[in-house]
Amino acid sequence: MQELHGIPVSGGSGVGRALLYEETHGVSAATAVPPRDIEAEVERLERAAAIAKEDLAALEDSLEDAGTIAKIFSAHAMMLDDFMPKLEAAIREGMSAEHAVATVMHAAAAQIAAVKNRVLAQRAQDIVDIERRVLRVLGGLSNQGPDARKGQGPVVVVAQDLTPSEAAQLQAGDIAAIALERGGHTSHTALIIKSLEIPCVMGVRGLTDAVQPGQMLWIDGSAGDVVIEPDSAAMERAIELGRRYEQLEATLLKESHLPPETIDGHRTSLLANIEFPLDVEAGMARGAAGVGLYRTEFLYEQHGRLPTEDEHVEAYRSTLERLDGGRLTVRTFDFGADKESPLMLNEKEENPALGVRSLRWCFEHLEPFMAQLRALLRVAAEGDLRIMLPMVGGVEEVRRARTYLQQAAAQLTREGIDHRPDPPVGVMIEIPGAAVTADILAREVDFFSIGTNDLIQYDLAVDRMNPRVEPLFRPSHPSLLRLLQGTINAASAAGIPVTMCGEMGGSSIYAVLLLGLGLREFSLTPGYIPRVRRLLRSLTMLEARRIASECMRLESAREVELLLRDRVTPVGSG
Ligand code: PEP
Ligand code: MG
Repeated sequence: MQELHGIPVSGGSGVGRALLYEETHGVSAATAVPPRDIEAEVERLERAAAIAKEDLAALEDSLEDAGTIAKIFSAHAMMLDDFMPKLEAAIREGMSAEHAVATVMHAAAAQIAAVKNRVLAQRAQDIVDIERRVLRVLGGLSNQGPDARKGQGPVVVVAQDLTPSEAAQLQAGDIAAIALERGGHTSHTALIIKSLEIPCVMGVRGLTDAVQPGQMLWIDGSAGDVVIEPDSAAMERAIELGRRYEQLEATLLKESHLPPETIDGHRTSLLANIEFPLDVEAGMARGAAGVGLYRTEFLYEQHGRLPTEDEHVEAYRSTLERLDGGRLTVRTFDFGADKESPLMLNEKEENPALGVRSLRWCFEHLEPFMAQLRALLRVAAEGDLRIMLPMVGGVEEVRRARTYLQQAAAQLTREGIDHRPDPPVGVMIEIPGAAVTADILAREVDFFSIGTNDLIQYDLAVDRMNPRVEPLFRPSHPSLLRLLQGTINAASAAGIPVTMCGEMGGSSIYAVLLLGLGLREFSLTPGYIPRVRRLLRSLTMLEARRIASECMRLESAREVELLLRDRVTPVGSG
């Protein structure tokens, strides 16, 4: 038995056999085949291609919202057919099937990517996707991302890292847990895994060297532990913890209809953070009053390219319909940094988190931005839709975005298309400059939403993706508390609502602190909603205020953490 430790990312306990997933090619294999094996190798490739195409067809069938996505999968199948003669020729020259696929397809993708063109960049990404898929099949791995082959029993996916789109393809069924060597709990991959409710630990140093394929693993996603070949006592503990976790989840779920109010009757609002329209169901099942953050950059993952205006409309409309009158806060595209997408293949920057990401990217790419704004105005006519701008640094950006919104409204009026010209427009407070000037911003917008995943990253100069600096990523830092207090006060003075949509809000101890600082709206990964509800219902506003004001007087992150741990009992620990 060997134990490793990482960052707890998604709660719960999972036991299964290790499925090692290599991020680039999925497999490693011999590069050459002797002449006598060439025919067999060609056949192996053909079988793998056939399975890959079956998988693409199955993937297409399994998607509820098959319309546009279906086209991508059939396009991939056709592209694979086009590559087959070249792949066969490479094998006949003595390459193994794996090596032929990696060499031929990689070269084709690289050649296309070298041409600085957005459409071609997408095509290059498609080729890389097909390459990975065929390589995975050749290596006997899954057909749909790092998913388990059915019937093998539960597996624990072990990898250096997963991209958000690989994570989005995971099927919870046979996957007991996930352990990654890289990543942090606010990375996009982490957010998706949390919404899939698969226990997960990230930032586990030495993981992929320590684990052999097929070894038994126990992942404690709540504590951040990875146990290799657990002994019988550890196995018992794993099973017991898993059982307790599930029991608590089931009990909490039954409380979903209860109002999220303190003992002394102060009402709060619990909303859901979503990446895909379907995630709304998970939020609604837990009694969310609406969506406080819809991360629309995932529309790109869904379509495999930038969505058209009508595809935007379809996504927002179907989300709004699922919400049954609840509010829908749609954040405009936030591409870049850890949300790197194939779109940016040709826009590599030294420091992407400080570069042309998010709203800055939109200002440089007005065509897709305007398509999104037009769609938002159209759907705003049909329900409570609010527009949220990410990565705003100051009022000038708000004014510029508002100009585009006015232009979009004028176009729609000219074209006679139904829309709402003036839906509420808010900003994410996730750059320290925005937090410090929150009083100025508050005069220009209808609401704030605090994004601590980035606010902490920028305030404390700690890369949210880098596990080595994870211990420095501290919501309890006095500097962050001051930024939060200033932002909440500015919103309250201006009479506008302020929500917390960063992961900080989902942690019990910080939820109490935020409540005490004056926050009333929490937008959370759906899985966190029940715990935060129970917590809010277990204290009085007076207690929360006292705790917050004591925290504000402390001098270090450590002191704040100790005080919170002393005064707040997290749900499920008692
Ligand atoms: C944040 O930065 O806190 C946030 C909610 O946005 P994202 O995690 O999508 O960057
Ligand atoms: Mg952010």
